[in-house]
Amino acid sequence: MTHIIIVGGVAGGATVASQLRRLNSDYKITVYEKDRDVTFANCGLPYYLGGIIPDRSQLLNYTPEGLKEQKDIDAHVYHEVTHVDPSKKEVTVKNRENGETFTDNYDKLILSPGCRANSLPLDTDMAFTLRNLEDTDAIENYIKQNNVKKVLIVGAGYISLEVLENLYHHGLETVLIHRSDKVNKFMDQDMNQVIFDAMDERKIDYRLNEEIDTVEGKTVHFKSGKQEDFDMIIEGLGIVPNNESFKDTDIKLDDDGYVPVNAYFQTNFEDIYAIGDIASYYYRHVDLPTRVPLAWGAHRAASIVAQHIALDSAPPFKGFLGANAVKFFDYTLTSVGISPNELKHFNYGMTENEQYNHASYFPGAERIHLRVYFDKDTRRILRAAAVGKAGADKRIDVLSMAMQNNMTIDELTEFEPAYAPPYSSPKDIINMVGYKAQSK
Ligand SMILES: Cc1cc2nc3c(=O)[nH]c(=O)nc-3n(C[C@H](O)[C@H](O)[C@H](O)COP(=O)(O)OP(=O)(O)OC[C@H]3O[C@@H](n4cnc5c(N)ncnc54)[C@H](O)[C@@H]3O)c2cc1C
Repeated sequence: MTHIIIVGGVAGGATVASQLRRLNSDYKITVYEKDRDVTFANCGLPYYLGGIIPDRSQLLNYTPEGLKEQKDIDAHVYHEVTHVDPSKKEVTVKNRENGETFTDNYDKLILSPGCRANSLPLDTDMAFTLRNLEDTDAIENYIKQNNVKKVLIVGAGYISLEVLENLYHHGLETVLIHRSDKVNKFMDQDMNQVIFDAMDERKIDYRLNEEIDTVEGKTVHFKSGKQEDFDMIIEGLGIVPNNESFKDTDIKLDDDGYVPVNAYFQTNFEDIYAIGDIASYYYRHVDLPTRVPLAWGAHRAASIVAQHIALDSAPPFKGFLGANAVKFFDYTLTSVGISPNELKHFNYGMTENEQYNHASYFPGAERIHLRVYFDKDTRRILRAAAVGKAGADKRIDVLSMAMQNNMTIDELTEFEPAYAPPYSSPKDIINMVGYKAQSK
């Protein structure tokens, strides 16, 4: 019987396990997960903290018992894979509850260990990061048990922004600091202005170019010389790859510790796959390497890998477009394509427009700012970014599909929206960006 071992039991790992079982009822499928839970919805965690998702059980899809009963998948929590030996097709596993170590052999190994949150070496028990349901429980319990009223959010990436908004909704006073003046790096920096506007409107304190120096009791000493008391600190400082179990093996890593894969997510060993945040590949629309540590990639990879293992053929992965969105209070900030600092590799042009999300005379019209970058030589779209209170995500989804099909900036004039006054305009903002590009 073919034995498939999966390292990590959340977005990529649990999905590939389910897909494999759907395609083959005979495989022995074993999932090792080093932490407490499998198959939870990471992306929903900030919204649970804010009370938007009131019921914690909505975030937890399966327990290990449920996976066994319903899908015949053996998922072992608190089991950490500590070493991979590709030559013996063997993993070493540590049971974190009793400390025992054992080995297990695979026919196919799928690595989906994700990344962990960076954190500062602070000497305090009031600092937290948010990566999984255990972190969420710890944050929730700390807030309840310590009568938390004032929280310092460190970092201004999308998770920090989501946490800030949700703790604000929870009724807590929030303060945000960020060590540079470049926030939410997915977006063009000038389009991030709405983040500051939203905080100003609510009198939320924030300071850029600010860092923590030390923490003494509840007092945080900042590198600027300021000091201020907080009940809690939440750090959102980016991620590092969970590669410890295989970084000293012959499995090839890139310079940043991620795993380069081929179009079927195979590593340099054909029986070892890497999916999700740990994998590195290429953009779909331009010839540049990239990593997109977001949920779509983990799910797409899981599907391709399951087909590659279980069926004779699988569709090759055609690459990432990097589509992403973050909600910050009333605003949506969203983009697709290469990042702003990758534009330098191209002879690019840019066209943008601001107009209402639907007919301006129809109640509730909100302005959207849409910006599209294109390659001046081929006219192909390189990147698009949109900000607005309504309808920004729809435009980026449409442009993602346009980019998937290698459309040019000029072809955006041909986009035919499903128009009625509550939904768009006879000349949608996407059309307008296309028309404006004609002179460029
Ligand atoms: C708070 C938060 C909000 C997010 N919001 C969004 C969003 O809105 N949109 C979006 O697209 N993405 C979002 N993401 C990112 C998304 O969740 C990840 O891209 C996705 O979970 C990656 O899947 P993965 O399988 O690679 O890693 P994970 O889902 O993180 O799973 C990896 C698992 O492997 C385990 N593991 C690691 N090493 C070992 C080992 N040696 N042995 C055993 N187990 C191991 C880890 O404990 C972990 O549980 C969010 C993430 C977080 C944390």
